[in-house]
Amino acid sequence: MMVLILGAGESGIGAALLAKAQNMLAFVSEQKSIGFEIKEKLIELEIDFEENGHVIAFEALPDLAIVSPGIPSNSTIVRHLISRGVEIISEIEFASRFCKGKVIAITGSNGKTTTTNLCHHILNVNGNNVAKVGNVGYSFARSVSETVADYYVVELSSFQLDHINSFRPDIGILLNITPDHLDRYDYNFQNYVNAKFRIGEFQTNQDHLIVNIGDQVIQQNIGSIKNIAKTHSIEIQLDNEGFIWINGNRTLTLQNSVLKGNHNAVNIACVFTALKILGLSVDQIQSGLDSFVNDPHRMEVLGEFNGVEFINDSKATNVDSVYWALDAMQKPVIWIAGGQDKGNEYGVLQALVKTKVKALICMGLDNQKLLNAFNETTPIKDTHDINSAIQEAWNIAQSGDVILLSPACASFDLFKNYMDRGEQFKNEFEKLKESVRG
Ligand code: ADP
Repeated sequence: MMVLILGAGESGIGAALLAKAQNMLAFVSEQKSIGFEIKEKLIELEIDFEENGHVIAFEALPDLAIVSPGIPSNSTIVRHLISRGVEIISEIEFASRFCKGKVIAITGSNGKTTTTNLCHHILNVNGNNVAKVGNVGYSFARSVSETVADYYVVELSSFQLDHINSFRPDIGILLNITPDHLDRYDYNFQNYVNAKFRIGEFQTNQDHLIVNIGDQVIQQNIGSIKNIAKTHSIEIQLDNEGFIWINGNRTLTLQNSVLKGNHNAVNIACVFTALKILGLSVDQIQSGLDSFVNDPHRMEVLGEFNGVEFINDSKATNVDSVYWALDAMQKPVIWIAGGQDKGNEYGVLQALVKTKVKALICMGLDNQKLLNAFNETTPIKDTHDINSAIQEAWNIAQSGDVILLSPACASFDLFKNYMDRGEQFKNEFEKLKESVRG
């Protein structure tokens, strides 16, 4: 069996390793150059490859092609393979064909990583053999080729759902759907919605689908999308004491958790529902939630200085995640935002900005869109680098305020990526502390 793998990133290499482990003949084709370490690995495993263009890939007639999530469905090579009748699947589909453990798959526009990490953590601290894969860390295929876990918690982007034709998670979680990545879906929101719902497309009536029915788009679409899994519609409320109510029942408390706000309550409620299905007790889930530490750059509290709190939410690269960040704030906010625009519509933030934001510090190469959107709502400062942004924020802040970096935009105009942006924010915070203390 000859497998053509398009893309030599983590999913492509994972797929190649799994194909090799299954005694298939794998060939990796990469449009760009392949990094030295990856090349060495491929050579060591005797997996053939080409780089800097899909040349051999065009000539080949493989039994199967595995497409990495970064490659659009309308790319020349994918269209060519389709025209030759080649079966095209994603690495997720490929891995699932060989996966022996139970699969909990998580998708949504926002909150995937947090939810995946939390689900993995709680299963792990309760003594289960569990792997965390997909869009975070190791690819699903690499993990399946190297280990046998009882549970696989899989983070899925919509791109990874684009090429499935039998993948059926034992438990699927759909967190929310808001406009994102529309450039890959013909600028048609419904195409993106449909891609997200594919998480349940091949589930049977033995499987479970957990959906956040509080999300308007999910609510509007769930009725018209074919699905036969046992569906759990989750609606949450977070009370003033930090208890999460799921469909009217008081369940967990956020009192001892790093996770705050309604959006995280949704993530937690979905994990809670999944873990109850798997037989964990409320106490086991609560203690796992209490010991959970999230990845950085997601509402990460850096600390308090002269009574001013600093929160790094650099991962908030779209309007919806900023909405929930502001929603979770209980102190006056100095909001640092901006960067590379992704076609943002800021209307939905107006009411929150009016009530919660004391000042907006724009931080981008071009801030015009933010300036236009909020010049009548809140005082604004126009900055173009992180140092000035922090300085301006600090000048305005008073004890009891919070300085929140939650950009709503991509980071590539001024930074390498959102992690770089978050790290620089942290460094500036440390420098500021030192300079003020003298
Ligand atoms: P993803 O992996 O989907 O990008 P992350 O967990 O990395 O999600 O979080 C990305 C951003 O979205 C962060 O700013 C985070 O605070 C915010 N966020 C987390 N959960 C949700 C949710 N359920 N709804 C909206 N925003 C969320």
